[in-house]
Amino acid sequence: MKRVSIIAAIALAAVLGAILPMAALLYVSWSRAQVAEADRLQGTAERTLQRAHRAYEGGLLALRKLNQSGLPPCSPEHLRLMRSLALATTSAEQVGYFAEGRLQCSSWGQVDALVPEPTPDHITADGAAITLGVSPGAGDLTGTLVSVQLGRHDILIDPERFVDVIADPNVRLAVATPDGRLIAQQPMPDPELLHRLLREPESGHTPRTLYATAHDQEWLAVATAPCVGLATAFQQQFWQLLPLGAVGAVLAIAAGIWLSRRRLSLRNELAIAVRRREFRMHYQPIIELDTGICVGAEALVRWSRADGTQVRPDLFIPVAEETGLIEALTDHVMDLVLSDMRELLIHDRSAHIAINLSAGDVSSGRALKVLSGKLVGTGIHPQQIWLEATERGILDIQGARTSLAAARRAGHCVAIDDFGVGYSSLQYLQQLPLDALKIDKSFIDSIGTHSATSPVTSHIIDMARTLGLFTVAEGIETSAQLAYLQSRQVEFGQGWLFSRPLPAAEFIAFHEERRKQYGKAPEDMQKPAGIAE
Ligand code: C2E
Ligand code: CA
Ligand code: CA
Repeated sequence: MKRVSIIAAIALAAVLGAILPMAALLYVSWSRAQVAEADRLQGTAERTLQRAHRAYEGGLLALRKLNQSGLPPCSPEHLRLMRSLALATTSAEQVGYFAEGRLQCSSWGQVDALVPEPTPDHITADGAAITLGVSPGAGDLTGTLVSVQLGRHDILIDPERFVDVIADPNVRLAVATPDGRLIAQQPMPDPELLHRLLREPESGHTPRTLYATAHDQEWLAVATAPCVGLATAFQQQFWQLLPLGAVGAVLAIAAGIWLSRRRLSLRNELAIAVRRREFRMHYQPIIELDTGICVGAEALVRWSRADGTQVRPDLFIPVAEETGLIEALTDHVMDLVLSDMRELLIHDRSAHIAINLSAGDVSSGRALKVLSGKLVGTGIHPQQIWLEATERGILDIQGARTSLAAARRAGHCVAIDDFGVGYSSLQYLQQLPLDALKIDKSFIDSIGTHSATSPVTSHIIDMARTLGLFTVAEGIETSAQLAYLQSRQVEFGQGWLFSRPLPAAEFIAFHEERRKQYGKAPEDMQKPAGIAE
């Protein structure tokens, strides 16, 4: 990735880092505001329902007392009791006594005018008759009231009592009978909505109004509020959550900048290191598992910074691949390998060194041409340089086929590295011209364990055999792993059980030592089995 692309990526990450937490904040604030407002309105509807019950049940209690009193109708005692109950019952405006279809007397006294007994609109479960829009007809009461009649007595209640609830000023309330006859309301901004809710009680919202209903056998309460309240609640939630969103945005931006700067500085540092050729090679011995002989090594690049700190190849190789620095690095690696190992390779013709190639090196074929040029005049045979092609990142499979076929024609042995770690392994295995398969360390780690990977190792060995490839196991750390690989006739292996990757001089000593120990002088040595001629 070019510097400009990295900077563009940083900018994008910073913008996203800022936008995403804020978008999340808006979303969360909005949902919380909706839930909070809906809950609040539902609470108000339920309180209204309770209020309606209190107004009605207060009246009912008074009516029962009157019916049970047994006092002679409209006698002075009867009138006194009616008056005192009218006073004691908060919701009662008037108490009346009916006989012969008309009002005979009330808490105001004897009634002369003809006030007919009301025809009820609704009968409650208690057997009380509810009549809406009743004119008092006695005393000095005006307006229309709700009559609750039980037996011969009735009580008149001001409808306002049913909706007399402390609520936000913009909340409107209504109470109705369960079959939807409106008893009282604070005029609704949307009468159509109210009528719908009286027919089908539910809670929800329209674009302009939030609504909630609560009902039982006796009463139905409706509460509505304009969505403006929602906007206010949203603002409240937003300001409450803003510090959290801001911290999230700042953290996301900081993390983005930190990561990109690290990447950018690693990229710059790597570019300088490649220019200054600040790399060395380590060599990890490759052992013929059958005999224990050291047949060669894998060359592994090492980068130590000027301050002495080491950077792991699995950190800087991907950066080199992304930034196009890999070509120069691969060339440098080849120079180092040829100069470090020339003497050993000429001395022991059966020995080889494996060089790792990146996907780009493989697809373009450039690395191979460079290698051929570099080998000229060194006395090293192409057969002594193995190439490890990683399947990681190979996009141009056709290009890879062509250049690997050319490599084999030139005499190199070609192995597929990191096999099984990618997702399209089998496809590569069948399409690429190969000599060997390196069994990735993760599969070797699973030997003798009960992990899901464990049986795969055996399949990989079988598959390699079917395809006529020889196998090199990497990352052998225990003798149990070695024993298993030997029992499965895996040809070669490397790992800490034999040796860690060593600096050139130490590897040469190791190789010599091992040769002596396993009783083969360089002159007697043959090429390891399985290598293409
Ligand atoms: P790789 O090609 O799979 O190399 C094997 C890695 O496993 C090496 O890590 C090696 O040191 C490590 N290893 C070997 N035996 C054992 C063991 O028994 N136990 C454990 N825990 N590890 C073991 P290293 O040297 O850090 O290399 C990491 C990767 O970097 C390599 O993986 C390879 O993909 C890349 N790399 C290294 N050198 C080069 C190079 O010169 N060119 C390119 N293109 N890539 C390279
Ligand atoms: Ca390798
Ligand atoms: Ca590997």
